[in-house]
Amino acid sequence: MPELPEVENTVNSLSDLVVARKIIDFWTDVPQRVSNLEKISFFKKEILRLRRVGKNIIFDLSGGVSILVHQKISGHVLYGVWSQNGDAWTTKDKFLSERINSFVRFVFVLDNKHMVTVVDPRKFAKVEVWKTKDLSQKLAESIAPDALSVSKNDFVDILSKRKGIIKRVLMDQSIISGIGNIYSDEILWWAKTNPYVVAKDADAVAVYNATRKVLLKAIELKGDSMSDYRRVDGTKGSFQKEHKVYGREGQKCFREDGGIIQIRKMGNRSLRFCPVCQK
Ligand SMILES: [Zn+2]
Repeated sequence: MPELPEVENTVNSLSDLVVARKIIDFWTDVPQRVSNLEKISFFKKEILRLRRVGKNIIFDLSGGVSILVHQKISGHVLYGVWSQNGDAWTTKDKFLSERINSFVRFVFVLDNKHMVTVVDPRKFAKVEVWKTKDLSQKLAESIAPDALSVSKNDFVDILSKRKGIIKRVLMDQSIISGIGNIYSDEILWWAKTNPYVVAKDADAVAVYNATRKVLLKAIELKGDSMSDYRRVDGTKGSFQKEHKVYGREGQKCFREDGGIIQIRKMGNRSLRFCPVCQK
């Protein structure tokens, strides 16, 4: 699933390409994943800015209209030129035409003949059309403090009240927004924190510092493309090359402490850690 660094990178890259453009057409093969399309029109409105709120991508348009895109489990956003043949969208671009980029579910046609598409093999991604003021109110009420912009004091305070294990607390979008399975594993390795420690007993400052270190590095490296995520031009990010624990089960810990990275089931997910430096 795209996490904070992937969404941040998508928003930053796309901003340079689409701000000041207008959306002139829209297509989808999953109309049940679009809300308010009939009620609020976004056609011919200018894209004023893009922003990330949690894992949501928000397009703010002229006329007080906003479009929210959530990529969910396997979606990602691309920019380029496609042509339509029935329900199939094809492109001549080498990267955009790779199989992982081929599951086109939503197409926003811009006034420069380019398109913003949402591709998603599993069809969970969604598009919502909002009045900007209603959306801002809803997000303010429903999105937990952002993993990257939360202050150190607030972060420490949040953890001090939680009795769940730190791995689950970091991933819980109702507590802190933006962190998923990959980054929580990596953060806890950097913080030398056992994933099973109760959040209120964890070294919250170490976890806070590791959170910033890992997320900022991942943004710098344009996200993690170990799974479905791709940059808006269809190419890969490179944070997967930096993994210390995720996907490294059975291998030696990079701290050379004699530890072998372990993997454990956690509900329907898994977690990974070094039993030596993350005691
Ligand atoms: Zn270790």
